[in-house]
Amino acid sequence: MKIYLDGRLVDESKAMVSVFDHGLLYGDGVFEGIRAYNGRVFKLDDHLDRLYRSAKAIALVIPMTKEALARAVVMTCKANGVRDGYIRLVVTRGVGTLGLNPFTCKKPQVIIIAGGIQLYPKKLYETGMSIITVGTMRNQAEAVNPRIKSLNYLNNVLAKIEAMNAGVMECIMLNPQGYVAEASGDNVFALRGKTLLTPPPWCGSLEGITRAVVMELAPEHGLTVNENVMTRYDLYTADEVFLTGTAAEIISVTNVDQRVIGNGKPGPMTRKLAKHFHAVAQRSGTPIE
Ligand code: PMP
Repeated sequence: MKIYLDGRLVDESKAMVSVFDHGLLYGDGVFEGIRAYNGRVFKLDDHLDRLYRSAKAIALVIPMTKEALARAVVMTCKANGVRDGYIRLVVTRGVGTLGLNPFTCKKPQVIIIAGGIQLYPKKLYETGMSIITVGTMRNQAEAVNPRIKSLNYLNNVLAKIEAMNAGVMECIMLNPQGYVAEASGDNVFALRGKTLLTPPPWCGSLEGITRAVVMELAPEHGLTVNENVMTRYDLYTADEVFLTGTAAEIISVTNVDQRVIGNGKPGPMTRKLAKHFHAVAQRSGTPIE
């Protein structure tokens, strides 16, 4: 596999970063997870926009233009023969001293890995997944804002550990006020009647790209999107619950904290939205050529 590192493609065995990189020492950096479908990079501009916003929020200047970075993503896919796959785009603060001070890091490091990912077992997409609410709450906005997709994912990792220890693969994280924020690596939606409820970013959710696509497609299915404060009650009493994310795509949730959602099987609207999402993903995006 060829990795984009320091402005060029290098062999995987030579793709090394310094132990003094603040990305490693402090989780100081930002990243994106992007998918390629059918020879195109899906929503590349939206991912790059979010990456540059995350970088700006942590005062990190990405040392390339968005256009150049878009070309580098496409080039890395092409070099690895990736037509359907998963791309990890990482920008670290770069090499600095052992102290926290990010201003000792003179050159941010841009890394692109184009490969594959299978987040959840295939079977879970047919059966739906069981999830729980965990005690680890989502970061407070004025501590580490969840809108920043930073390399410091420890908050989410701690939540994931709770989920895995309880025998499930995902979980719902609440914000410090006790409202539903999102899953450890996905956004969450609850359908009741013809209303699709999802928490707004100010409640502690990432502005998911998949989430945005679902919100755009929803009216075509007769749905009204209500971006609003959500409690666990909304999940427990929903007709359907599903999670969205670049790696997860759209996955049905059929059990939350031992409450069966709907009839315990993936709901018809979730299936329709997932089908529609895949159709859109197959025919749009930046060509890999
Ligand atoms: N929330 C969190 C915490 C995430 O890490 C992700 C991405 N894995 C998402 C939501 C989903 O965002 P997107 O659809 O842009 O991948």
